[in-house]
Amino acid sequence: MSHKLSERLKSLVGGPGRDAGRSTDSPEDASSLRTCPECEKTFIVSEMERCPDCGTAVEETPTERDLGLL
Ligand SMILES: [Zn+2]
Repeated sequence: MSHKLSERLKSLVGGPGRDAGRSTDSPEDASSLRTCPECEKTFIVSEMERCPDCGTAVEETPTERDLGLL
């Protein structure tokens, strides 16, 4: 996982009216959600320890699948 890829993902997730064409429900999608408590942004990444914006340690966000809701 490169830093530049994280930046790209951030722009995809953070923008209003983001393209919903890419499904995140694919069982082959190994990425997970990380949330920055400072920026209150959610990142869809496979691995990320710190927010690229503020450097705060991000928190792993359980998906609905992880919570057994699906
Ligand atoms: Zn942040």
